[in-house]
Amino acid sequence: MKKSKIEWTETTWNPITGCTKISDGCKNCYAERMTKRLQAMDLDKYKNGFDKITLHEDYLNEPLKLTSPTMIFVCSMSDLFHEEVPYSFIDKVFNVIRQTPQHTYQILTKRAINMYKYFHGRAIPKNVWLGVTVENKKARDRIQYLKQLNAIVKFISCEPLLEDIGSLLLNGIDWVIVGGESGHNARKMNKEWVLNIKEQCELYHVPFFFKQWGEYGEDGVKRSKYKNGKLLNGKEYLEKPIRNEFENNEYHYAMMHDLTYDVHFNNEQDSNNKGFTDSYDDCLSYIEEYNGTNHSYFKDYKGGTVSIICNETGETIFETEVKKAK
Ligand code: SF4
Repeated sequence: MKKSKIEWTETTWNPITGCTKISDGCKNCYAERMTKRLQAMDLDKYKNGFDKITLHEDYLNEPLKLTSPTMIFVCSMSDLFHEEVPYSFIDKVFNVIRQTPQHTYQILTKRAINMYKYFHGRAIPKNVWLGVTVENKKARDRIQYLKQLNAIVKFISCEPLLEDIGSLLLNGIDWVIVGGESGHNARKMNKEWVLNIKEQCELYHVPFFFKQWGEYGEDGVKRSKYKNGKLLNGKEYLEKPIRNEFENNEYHYAMMHDLTYDVHFNNEQDSNNKGFTDSYDDCLSYIEEYNGTNHSYFKDYKGGTVSIICNETGETIFETEVKKAK
């Protein structure tokens, strides 16, 4: 498993290759382009090409080899809920996910109905974030299926954003990612469409992650996606979800405006140490208390890691990761 270039994850896990185009967002599919390239390079994993769904049993155990907690995007080269992927194989994927609670798995699909049906009678592990792609108005139906699922984090990826998406009704949604298309035949994304989604996120207090402009910049001019960057009105928006799940020693995420924290909590009590707590609310109150300052606290305490690292720039959004010691 390699480090991913995708800004909202850390690595990708691809136990399935190949897919079938099902919606407008698929037109310039990145997975298709990459698969063709890797096939031409004679990589055994991609020998069946893009049009054939191939299940890779030998890649199922990859996450078991990662010891440190990692954010893993599942199936960046396919769609886990593709009609030709049997439930028995998806079960195997989730068995690995259950065996590795230290990781967080991001699963994004355009086949929201299939995902919804798969989870009928199956529990969703707490280390799984479920998302649907919503690239245009037509694709908004997928959100209704996502909302009915009991995932810790439910997210929407509006990438490639192809039109003004109108109203998204973000109640029950924890995260929205927006991005423009890249590649030779990329379609243009208008700034107003992005601002519309950003405003809805603010209205519903949903973290907003602006990934990139893609091939067309904020000014509408075509140039390299690297030159176009990811500034929106001069600012980066890289917000991520807030989570508050202390059961089962899971990992927790918090996002607050103006500060980023890296918070690890030990659940032991110690009256001598202010700021030492197993309560998430307390955690947030410390964050508020030290808002705007620059501190580093409570590291490697009593076998658990307890630290608060604050940045005083106030410029961008902070990520918080909270680990409850075992
Ligand atoms: S669902 Fe995803 S992987 Fe499959 S064709 Fe569409 S964009 Fe490509």
